Amino acid sequence: MLALGKLLELTLAGREPAEKTQLTAKGVRMRWLTEGALEVSPAADRDSGMDLLLSAGIHGNETAPIELLDRLIIAIARGEITPRVRILFVFGNPGAMRTGARFVEEDLNRLFNGRHENSSGPEALRACELEHLAETFFSQPQRTRLHYDLHTAIRGSRIEQFALYPYKEGRMHSRQQLARLRAAGMEAVLLQNKPSIVFSAYTYDQLGAEAFTLELGKARPFGQNAGVNVERLEQRLTHIIEGTEPSLEQASLEGLQLFSVAREVIKRSDAFVLHLPDDVENFSELAEGYLLAEDVASTRWVIEESGARIIFPNPKVKNGLRAGMIIEPASAAGLV
Ligand code: ZN
Repeated sequence: MLALGKLLELTLAGREPAEKTQLTAKGVRMRWLTEGALEVSPAADRDSGMDLLLSAGIHGNETAPIELLDRLIIAIARGEITPRVRILFVFGNPGAMRTGARFVEEDLNRLFNGRHENSSGPEALRACELEHLAETFFSQPQRTRLHYDLHTAIRGSRIEQFALYPYKEGRMHSRQQLARLRAAGMEAVLLQNKPSIVFSAYTYDQLGAEAFTLELGKARPFGQNAGVNVERLEQRLTHIIEGTEPSLEQASLEGLQLFSVAREVIKRSDAFVLHLPDDVENFSELAEGYLLAEDVASTRWVIEESGARIIFPNPKVKNGLRAGMIIEPASAAGLV
């Protein structure tokens, strides 16, 4: 196997490869760009015209998706997978990956869309670098742009695998992209209705990519990911990479639950109390009339939506940040 197939090993060891560019037996070029970043280019006469950004480890302890990308990179380096698309593989937060932590100083996935400029430290530098890497990668005109940012969640989830679809004013969500996610094993998609500062929101908003954050299950240490089943996603990614994906024209959304954000619960003060158990699962249902949270000056968050559920509850965030999202069922009516 080519040495650049060991991107994960290099990244965890904090090493630079001696040779930065290598060619596989199939004429596929692998190019090491910087720590944790590898560009793969198909032979010119095999190029199908798609640019695919695959990132994982934006939170350093989310090992199942890191291991998934590692398998794809190795298969390409061995010539077992022959890409027909350009790919940028990214391990997001090498410093945190090395210590098995979610981050070093702060959450990298809250620093995109320029937010890193108001911050300093390793994550702010990395967010800036990742924006530039993505911008350069997605700078070629007339190509299809797709970004999957792969995660596992801190907590358990009633719906194990789901996607977050970013929002940009005036841009509609794509039915075909949802069909592709369904085929990749996703059970639900949260259609966002506000701009955000996560990595996929940056590539969606600024670079014109179809972009998604994928949550694949609960985070566990390296080698203990038997419980996270990424088989369908891995299979679909292999099809996309090899250019053998079945047509999405007539593909079904059946079995895919759609949600939209009803309200974001913002913590205002240290008096904030969230009335949910610490280990409450994502997508847990919230009954109408339920007192979800209380905060300073008699602020009360009472559930008014029908079919409401909670997602990403975290009462420990800093004041002024999101302590959870109330979501509600959405229809496919607004899709293009
Ligand atoms: Zn994550």
